[in-house]
Amino acid sequence: MRVVLVTMALRVPTDPSRWITVPPQGYAGIHWIVANQMDGLLRLGHEVVLLGAPGTEPPSPEVTVVDAGEIDDMHAWLNGPEAAGVDVVHDFSCGQIDPDRLPAGMAYLSSHHLTGRPKYPRNCIYVSYAQRAQAGNDNAPVVRISVNDARYRFRADKDDYLLYLGRISEFKGTYEAAAFAHAAGCRLVVAGPSWEEDYLKRIESDFGDTIDLVGEVGGERRLELISRATAVMVLSQSTMGPWGVVWCEPGSTVVSEAAACGTPVIATPNGCLAEIVPAVGVLVAEGSQFTPEEAAAAVAGLPEPDAVRAAALQRWDHVLVAKQFETLYHEVLAGRTWS
Ligand code: UDP
Repeated sequence: MRVVLVTMALRVPTDPSRWITVPPQGYAGIHWIVANQMDGLLRLGHEVVLLGAPGTEPPSPEVTVVDAGEIDDMHAWLNGPEAAGVDVVHDFSCGQIDPDRLPAGMAYLSSHHLTGRPKYPRNCIYVSYAQRAQAGNDNAPVVRISVNDARYRFRADKDDYLLYLGRISEFKGTYEAAAFAHAAGCRLVVAGPSWEEDYLKRIESDFGDTIDLVGEVGGERRLELISRATAVMVLSQSTMGPWGVVWCEPGSTVVSEAAACGTPVIATPNGCLAEIVPAVGVLVAEGSQFTPEEAAAAVAGLPEPDAVRAAALQRWDHVLVAKQFETLYHEVLAGRTWS
């Protein structure tokens, strides 16, 4: 099949003349998800057209990168002559593509990666049951975030630090991760962009002695940090999120990434985390009240790196997940619809 993957088109915040590519230069979960899905489809023998990430280096001749990032340009390409051979559009853009603006009869599905209801619920696939329940869409399929372990690095020997990898925001639980590390007597490396100055100041003022702030990371530095950590902290909080609904962790890219590196996860049960973390880590309560005993017990209860990696690949391997999507593509081509 010739599959169009649409990523969320975003400009690099520090250099708006460039687009975030697939895979991304730094922070950007959806662009990693699209990279892994592209790898899976290629392994299954499909062709991929990538929309929404101009500047991406095509990894093989079977990938065409379209030079369209603006929303109108993406719709124009989808309605133009080059889209004539397209079999299916799989849209990860979370609302940038309007299915009503596609040519009549073009097969279309989307994957939702935000909290709350998707802007266009038609043929929308969710990444967790919790996310689907919040959207109130019981008939829709759930397909997990995949991981291609060739893009990651397994390491059995871990260093003595915990890692926070993501945007430094209240709903993502960076403060609580620092509180946990403090109680456990471990260092917390905090990697990721920070757009909420007061929040960061509060973390620094309460836990400045526990954290190492390293800023946004990409490439080799990111891989080293993930693969060497004792555990990745995902203490997502059910607080008001950025889209006007209570934050319900939708799919959590970092969980499958960490697990592919053999790095276990310490997470709250918020949203998808209650569904996916028990196989690759431990759950702790929301909030920041951790006793040293509780924190030490959570760290002591972490699964071994080999078991973590095996569990991740058994559940979320990129080819396995691409096959689940492939089945849905065939069903939509055969006329299935849901909303
Ligand atoms: N990430 C990164 N560099 C950073 C911080 C985060 O590459 O400095 C990546 C991380 O590996 C993951 C993504 O950004 O792929 C965050 O995605 P996740 O689903 O965990 O969080 P969200 O998209 O909700 O912010």
